[in-house]
Order: sequence, then structure tokens, then C-alpha cells
Amino acid sequence: MDSYNDSVYEKEIKELKETFNSGKTKEESWRRNQLKNLLSLLVEKEEDIFTALKQDLGKHYVESFRDEVGPLIKSVNYALKGLKKWMSSKKADLPLAAFPATAELVPEPLGTVLIISSWNFPFGLSLEPLIGAIAAGNTVVIKPSELAPASSSVLAELIDTYLDREAIKVIQGGVSVGEQLVQQKWDKILFTGSAAVARKVMTAAAKNLTPVVLELGGKCPAIVDSLSSSWDIQMAIKRILAAKFGTCAGQACIAIDYILVEKKFSSTLVEHLKAVIQSMFGDNPKESSSIARIINKSHFTRLRNLLNEPMVEASIVHGGSLDEDNLFIEPTLLVDPPLKAGIMTEEIFGPLLPIITLEKIEDSIDFIKSRPRALAVYAFTKNEMLKKKLSSDVSSGSLVFNDAIIQYVADSLPFGGIGECGFGRYHGKFSFDAFSHEKTVVRRNYLVDFWFRYPPWNQQKMQIFKSAYRFDYLGVVLVVLGFNKS
Ligand code: NAD
Repeated sequence: MDSYNDSVYEKEIKELKETFNSGKTKEESWRRNQLKNLLSLLVEKEEDIFTALKQDLGKHYVESFRDEVGPLIKSVNYALKGLKKWMSSKKADLPLAAFPATAELVPEPLGTVLIISSWNFPFGLSLEPLIGAIAAGNTVVIKPSELAPASSSVLAELIDTYLDREAIKVIQGGVSVGEQLVQQKWDKILFTGSAAVARKVMTAAAKNLTPVVLELGGKCPAIVDSLSSSWDIQMAIKRILAAKFGTCAGQACIAIDYILVEKKFSSTLVEHLKAVIQSMFGDNPKESSSIARIINKSHFTRLRNLLNEPMVEASIVHGGSLDEDNLFIEPTLLVDPPLKAGIMTEEIFGPLLPIITLEKIEDSIDFIKSRPRALAVYAFTKNEMLKKKLSSDVSSGSLVFNDAIIQYVADSLPFGGIGECGFGRYHGKFSFDAFSHEKTVVRRNYLVDFWFRYPPWNQQKMQIFKSAYRFDYLGVVLVVLGFNKS
């Protein structure tokens, strides 16, 4: 696949630009039809998607539906419902100094856009942005990840079958294909992946002044307060574990990366975590089909190296077994691994869960603030003061109390990062906005004019401008006084 060359891209991109220039993607009917076709793809071909995800990541079909097909069906329906309103122009107010005039904001598609996606949710991370790009009326190239080859090839085949080939294309390939694609002139690039590659993408995009949305990763902390009722504890533990080990085996950008807990509550927490891991994945998790596999050998080795660091191995309190042949890593709990070890400085992206103990739960705020801003912060607590402090003092892409990952599936919430986790946002109407330009349209006529607008300048005109801009109501008076004076 990496043998694609520039001329092939140029031909493909030229075709997409011609399609865009023909104006057909701007029509509401085209956008609606493509979204409906995408819906048919998801409904009719869910089995193909499940099979590919099983092959690439060992995901259970229930997990694949919950995390990829289901949310996408919901998002397409949401876009279909909102499309007419999203496409319509919005009236805007003008100051009296601009009287008489009317103005509106008219959304227009950007043109031809590039979506580069990651391997952990190969359908969701490619198609969720595509929904916005289609709704906004763009032509699109998707470059999925080479690390999930079965999913990439099913994605390419299904898009080619169900969607308008003149307007939407999948270009498969690895790093060199990505490198060549970002050199081209796009109207926007939405990139999902690592911060290291994002820097290269942004550098290449800068050459063409191409705007970018960067959806990156990082370490998402979860504060677990000393909950007193066993009902609350059980619910919190189940939510934590489903979000960590039950979601692509922790290979998710908004997975809980590590837990912060008060020392006095840590052994209770660990005991509960162990019991619920057993109830979710059985006595021998390696036999469980409910936990995904590690994507490839190189990520497996990366995770093994994180565990093999001095003092880290000694901090394992549960799990820790690895099976390289099956790319399986057991759900693993660690208590107080060294904070300088890779497991506490790098994004884990796998089924390893460090638990860091603190004297007081309030110390968690400084702990989080002393590290790069997170894509998501989670807090399992009923402490209103702590919630308030987290809301006001800690900056992050999202903040969720008493659950994890659910923020991803809400169309009404923008999804995106801050700082090292990236910038820009999408999902729901925010995806439409990400792929649109709101054009300012101002309308005036020739009925009324004001003499003071034009040279030659004098002190009186200066006074009038000062009054008009500082005190708008005086502008009205000026309008009356200055009416038609030449
Ligand atoms: P990656 O950066 O290695 O690759 C991402 C994509 O970029 C792939 O399609 C890859 O082929 C392509 N690519 C690689 N080098 C390129 C280059 N020089 N120019 C252009 N494209 C290039 O990341 P990954 O391993 O696929 O994903 C893991 C990272 O992604 C983690 O940090 C994770 O947190 C993050 N992530 C973020 C989100 C989010 O929505 N914020 C979602 C999933 C993953």
C-alpha cells in the first residue's frame, strides 16, 4: 500500500475537488442521501464490521456494537434530524453605526478534507468525523490506520460500495502514505493519533495554511473517593472496570489511565476491583471473549516493557500475566509504582491500571494540576466541595463525575482536547461546524446614506464617530441628524 505515489493522490484529490466544484455536495439532497447510505452500511454490514474488529483487536461483537456501530447509527440519525437547521443561515445583529443593514451567517462547506484515523476504534474514528464532513457538504479522503488492516480494508470496501465514489474515498496505507497525503493541499485535516505524529501533520499542513483539528491522547486520571455505601462502591468499580478493561482493553484515548485514592481506602478499593474483574472476565481472563487483545507485537512489547521496569513489577497486586502468542495481557492492578517510571509518565494505552495512594483525596487536585492537561478527568465521589474544586481549578478536555467514557457518545457535547491532548472539537453539530465556514453576509441598500462616513475628514466627523461607537443610542440621534446631509 505504501507504494502509492504522488500522481495517484493528485489524480484522486483532483477528482474530489472537481466534484466539490460541481456543487453537487452542497445540495441538501446529496448530503441527506449520503447520510442515509451510511446508515444502511452500518445496519446491513454490521457483521462485516464485527468480524474485522474481532480479527484486528479481538473485540467482542457486543463491545463493537456498543462502541462503534451503535454510536455511529445514533450520530447519523442525529445529523439527519438536525441537517436542515444546521444548513440554514442565522440572522446576526449589527451595531447602529452600520445602520441601515441586515446581516447573516451562512454556513458553507470547506471543500476537500482529509480524515486520518487511529486503529483502536477504526470505524468510529473514521466515520464519526465523516458524518460531519458529509453533513457540511465536503468531499473527503479517509486515511485509516495500517495497524488495523482488516478494519481498514472493510471500511474501504464498504465506503466504495455505499457512498458516492466521486466525493468520498478511502486511501489505505501506513506512515509514508500519511506523510504524502498531508503534503497535499487540503481545506482541513482532522487527525486522530499521537502527539508525536500530530506535530508532523501540523508542520506539513502549515506549508499550505491548512487548518487542523488534532484529537490526541494522554493520561486520564480517575479520582476514587472513599465511598461509604457498598452500593456506591460496587457501581463505581463496575463503571471503572468496564471503561478500562472492557473498552478495547484500555486502548482508548479517554480510558482511565490511573487511579488516585486515599491511602486508608486503597486496600478496600483493590479488593473490590479484584472481585469485579473476576466477575467480568472469569477465573481465567485469557479464556474470556469479553476482553480485547493488544493490537500488535510492538504495542505488546511496549506494554511489557512498562511492567518490566525496576520497582514496577513489585507493585503488581493483581494480574500481570502476558501471552505474546495471543497478544493477551491480563487486567493488571498496580499499587504505587514509582511516579518516575514509564507507566506513570507515558500514556499506558493498555490493560494496566496503576493506583496511586495519597494522604488526602484533596491532594489529587495538585497531583493532576502538576501534570500535562488530560483529555478527560474522572472523579468517583459524592463530595460536593471536591466536585466544585475540580470544576473550577482543573483544566481538561472533559470532566465526568461518577462514570467514565460516556461523554464520548453524547451528540450534544463537543469532543476534543486541550494542551497536549490536541485542539478543535467534533461530534454532533460540532462536527458540522468543524467542517464548515460561517460566511458573513452583510446586506445594504442605496436608500439611506450618512455624509460623515466619507473624507475629507474634520473634527466634527471625528466627534460623530466617537459618539456613534461609544454610545450607541447617540448613533440613532446622529442617524436622524445626519440623514442625507452631504
Ligand atoms: P499514530 O499517531 O501513530 O497514527 C495515527 C494515524 O496517523 C495513522 O493512520 C497513521 O498511519 C498516520 N500517520 C503516522 N505517521 C504519519 C505521518 N508522518 N504523517 C501523516 N500520518 C501519519 O497514532 P496511533 O498509534 O494510531 O494512535 C494512538 C494515539 O492516538 C494515542 O495517543 C491515543 O490516545 C490517540 N487517540 C486519540 C483519540 C481521540 O479521539 N482523542 C482517539 C484514539 C486514539
